Amino acid sequence: MSTRGEGRRIDSALTGVVCSNCGRRYDADSLLTICDDCGKVLVAEYDLERAKRSMTKEALAGRDWNLWRYAEVMPVRDPEHRLTLAEGGTPLLKVDRWAAGVGLPNLLVKDEGRNPTGSFKARGLGAAVSRARELGVEAIALPSAGNAAAAASAYASRGGMDVAVFMPQDAPEVFKAECRALGARVYLVDGLINDAGKIVRENGSSRGWFDVSTLKEPYRAEGKKTMGLELAEQLGWQVPDAIIYPTGGGTGIVGMWKGFDELEQMGLIGSSRPRMIVVQSEGGAPIVRAFERGERHAPLWEGAETIAPGIRVPVAIGDYLILDAVRESGGTAIAVSDAELEAAMRDVAASEGLFVSPESGAAFAAAAKLREAGQLAEADRVVVYATGSGLLHTDLIGGDYPVLDPNDPDVGQVIDSAYA
Ligand SMILES: *Cc1c(COP(=O)(O)O)cnc(C)c1O
Ligand SMILES: [Zn+2]
Repeated sequence: MSTRGEGRRIDSALTGVVCSNCGRRYDADSLLTICDDCGKVLVAEYDLERAKRSMTKEALAGRDWNLWRYAEVMPVRDPEHRLTLAEGGTPLLKVDRWAAGVGLPNLLVKDEGRNPTGSFKARGLGAAVSRARELGVEAIALPSAGNAAAAASAYASRGGMDVAVFMPQDAPEVFKAECRALGARVYLVDGLINDAGKIVRENGSSRGWFDVSTLKEPYRAEGKKTMGLELAEQLGWQVPDAIIYPTGGGTGIVGMWKGFDELEQMGLIGSSRPRMIVVQSEGGAPIVRAFERGERHAPLWEGAETIAPGIRVPVAIGDYLILDAVRESGGTAIAVSDAELEAAMRDVAASEGLFVSPESGAAFAAAAKLREAGQLAEADRVVVYATGSGLLHTDLIGGDYPVLDPNDPDVGQVIDSAYA
């Protein structure tokens, strides 16, 4: 299997980039951030008539499982710039005991924790870093709760680029070490991810750093879109009844929603869509609050606090795109407590052999709550996105373990009593 995507000449059908808010069009081959006119999110467009000629079910069957499997609807033109660490191609797993327990026998888990650097952020950053490199960028910067920083560091390193990451001071240690190992300049910020974002905005361009913040350039969402493309392909070109997704900045929801439309336009799926379900933490749920109030914008959530760092996002530039997808799909938005998400994380690990991140725990907890509230039916085919690996969050699990003295004649007693 090729590891750098060489040797496969599939043309990107990228034709342009358009503002999701005011409709202004941009040259796709210039380096873009947000809309110059209105400051909103830019979105990539493709010639799908052209893409569908080569991106057929049959052609796909022979391709590697990585971001560039769907190269026709990805933004990188030159295969030399399609960086890959074999991201994507994540399994759809059954968790039958757990799922039966909550009354959702048709629930599947998309296990994104197996991606390079342990989260689905590899998809978004793999795409954004590759495209930035193609457009001549030599150094990138971003604010991150941890996973995005790790993924950006990995792909920048892969591409021989410089990277500076800005994380909240209390980000899990593993991310700081991982980024440092991957060659990044690691900065800690006394604040949250939006504070880190402000530092990047105000200090990045004078240092020649291209800002790859969530939805502040058009291509991270394109990488995350592949979560939806892959799901449809894995389900035999079907979509499930509901997708449950732990939501922070919202690139995943927005990207998948766009991806389903592209698949339909290419004739690969029909017109039905999954209900898109946003999950946030009660300690920081701006999208849930806006959904409940019937609003299209989600004001900043003051003092956002949760043990799930990937969804500790007080304000999202793509709020309107997330909320549109949820509403158009007939989905919903729900908050779970830290206690609920942690319990779900532990339950799934102990009962199903799947050690997922706390954000993923939130999605499992939401599935159970929505079933209990009757918002999901027993027959529903539900896909929970386990967005990251629990291995990055051992700090939430640790505690005291029995220590055994090999010379203690009563060691057997200690063994038995420790877990009695
Ligand atoms: C970033 C992140 C999220 C939130 O993803 P968005 O697509 O930005 O909403 C969820 N889970 C994990 C593990 C993350 O790292
Ligand atoms: Zn605009």
